[in-house]
Amino acid sequence: MKLLNPGPVSMTDRVRKALASEDVCHREPEFGALVKDVRERIANVYADTKKGFTPVLLGGSGTAAVEAMLSLVPKDEASLVVANGVYGERIAAMLKAQGKAHEVISSPWTSGLDLDAADDALGRGPADESKKGFGHVLTVHHETTTGRLNDIAALGMIAQRHGVPMLVDAVSSFAGEEIQFDEWGIEAIAATANKCVHGAPGVSFVLAKDSALARPSGATSVYLDLSRHAAEQAKGSTPFTLPTHVTFAFQAALAELAEEGGWKSRRDVYRTRSTRVRNVCKESNAPLLLESEDAYGCTLTSFRLPAGVTYESVHARLKADGFVIYAGQGKFDGAIFRIAVMGDLATSDIDRLASSLRAALGRPH
Ligand SMILES: *Cc1c(COP(=O)(O)O)cnc(C)c1O
Repeated sequence: MKLLNPGPVSMTDRVRKALASEDVCHREPEFGALVKDVRERIANVYADTKKGFTPVLLGGSGTAAVEAMLSLVPKDEASLVVANGVYGERIAAMLKAQGKAHEVISSPWTSGLDLDAADDALGRGPADESKKGFGHVLTVHHETTTGRLNDIAALGMIAQRHGVPMLVDAVSSFAGEEIQFDEWGIEAIAATANKCVHGAPGVSFVLAKDSALARPSGATSVYLDLSRHAAEQAKGSTPFTLPTHVTFAFQAALAELAEEGGWKSRRDVYRTRSTRVRNVCKESNAPLLLESEDAYGCTLTSFRLPAGVTYESVHARLKADGFVIYAGQGKFDGAIFRIAVMGDLATSDIDRLASSLRAALGRPH
């Protein structure tokens, strides 16, 4: 089966074999060496994070990494969430669960981030006048709800003008899209092993500025206290059991990413695949959900269903042909379908997908 959902993705044989690596104890030096290597490889994916940033490995899915990243938000701070989909709203839900003051600038899910409203809010400050000002801007880079690649460069410029650092959910963009940490004013990002990096699900990570990790922790959870993980990992240890086999697989996936030319090459590959999928859907009367191809990143595209065609029928036909696609979430449930192109896919897989899609969407092939 080839997975065309936005994670977990289809793994290469090398990554799958790494899952069957020897059994190791997470407290032994050999596991410490593995974690050190994985963390160095994470820091080396983007040129800006080789210095001044610390990668922190966590056991858990991407959501765990996002939630752990929020321990960089002090408990007494007010922060500003700029959202346009499920994942932006999830950040707000996490801050609420952590009892941290925040305001949300939300735009319709089919629109971009509301940059003007964010600028105004940052200029005005929090409604609660006991707070000095907003301490962080939080947002999502690639909003997987629709496939829009949010303009976090522009948001980061605005935030920097107001002297506010940005925390970014980059779960579905890390290693697949451009990220300029310094230029865009990024304090930390959260991401996972099993999306653009092509590892197995089970480990995720935060890549945070050393200066942010040096502040007192704003954690409201014992397990997801980022500074505790960072401090232990700096000593070659780990506070809790990491999924050891999944960590071996992550190392193999990071090695493949580097050997294949890094995030830029990966983006080229994803772009080629996505263009192909978009052309087939266009010919088959399944229009883009968003306003234009330019609105999308390279990893995932959302389409409206052709008249009279149900999501269930498209999903079932593709699954019978060996492909798993993804439904819409929340208000898009039943109205759209999404196709992600991350993971181990051969050109022949994309050829087969094209004819399967044509059949599923009702065009003779
Ligand atoms: C996949 C994803 C997540 C995390 O999902 P998990 O199921 O917890 O791995 C968070 N944010 C975005 C943008 C995502 O695409």
